[in-house]
This record gives sequence, structure tokens and C-alpha cells, in this order.
Amino acid sequence: MHKEAPSVAPDKIPVDDTPTTIQEENPVFFISSRTSAELSLTTPPECCCNCGARGELEMAETPLTRVRYFFIFGTELTLTEFFPYCAGCVKTAKRVRQGWLAKVLAACMVSAATFLALVIAAESLPKILSTHLFAGSVLIGFLLTVAYFYVQEWGRKGRTHYQPVSLVDADIEEGLLKKLKLRFYNAEYAAVFQNANLELVSLRRLEIVAKA
Ligand SMILES: [Zn+2]
Repeated sequence: MHKEAPSVAPDKIPVDDTPTTIQEENPVFFISSRTSAELSLTTPPECCCNCGARGELEMAETPLTRVRYFFIFGTELTLTEFFPYCAGCVKTAKRVRQGWLAKVLAACMVSAATFLALVIAAESLPKILSTHLFAGSVLIGFLLTVAYFYVQEWGRKGRTHYQPVSLVDADIEEGLLKKLKLRFYNAEYAAVFQNANLELVSLRRLEIVAKA
């Protein structure tokens, strides 16, 4: 039906957007030896998969990426699927959540900037802070970073700033995707999606979890 997925940008394939259709026949998706491929799941356009809004929805390409680190090496797997989004959420389809490494780097940079600012303002600081400039900067940098990522993820009521679907796990054996686990931010859409892909779920090929 479609060509072998290229390494970077997978070809677009038409999405079956009929809400009641259940994916049948071969429940194992072909995956190329490269690290990116397309999924062929049923993604009903029932509501926005991020905020849950109904009405005018757009099927947007959502690259789901899982990165694994082995010391300094890493492997990256990207599986692409189309999900329904409202106009307000469509930008989140490609907004990948930062991994822990990026968060640690961000905390280091914020700490360094805080340290500089504290050094400049050292004379007007409270004694406890001016005598512990380094420890104080690390603590402030860490807290600011945690607060920032918390607000991005949970601060907008009913909507996440990042991709509302994430790839938790994928088992690939001999070029075939044997098992797939997806996490949804929106519990309502997770239920709709689960119903539309019941066969894969009952075969334990697909596992769906909703974020609390
Ligand atoms: Zn939305």
C-alpha cells in the first residue's frame, strides 16, 4: 500500500477516519529497519485528542518518538499517526516533550544564570544567600526549572502544551511491531481510541493508558 518508510520524513498515508471501523486483518504493522515508520491505527475524529473539544477538527500528523539512551549512545524510534485536533491544539501535535537530559541541561543553565545574577547583586543579598552563592543558585535554578515544566504540562486547564499522545513502549521483533503502548493526556479520547481499536487491544498488541 505504501512504500518502505524513509529514514526521516515518512510518507503520508490516508487515515481511516470512520469512527466505527475497527482495524482488522493483519494486526501486525510492518516497520522498516529504519527508526521511523507509520502506524495504521483507527483514530476516530470524535473530539480533540488534547482538550476534548468537539466540532471542527483537523487530522494532524503526530510523530511519536521514544528515545533510549545507552551511556552516550541513544536509539530513537519515531512512529507517526494522525490524530484529531481542534484549531487551538493543532500546534501541540508536533511539540515533543523534553526528555530528562534536556531538563537537567535547562536546570544547569538556569542555575548558571542565577549564579551570575546573584554575584552581581551579592552586596544587597541577605547574608544566608551571599555566603552560599553556589548552593543558592543551584537550588533556585532547580526550583525554577521544575516550576516551569510543571506549568507547561499541567498549568493550562484541560490542555497540555505538549503532544497529548506519547509513545511509552514499542516491541519490535524482526522488523515487525509486536506491541505498542500509548499514553493519552485526555482520558475521554483514550476511551474513544480504545473502542476503535478493540481488536488490537484484545490481542494485546496495543495498550492504552490515560494520564491521571
Ligand atoms: Zn483542542
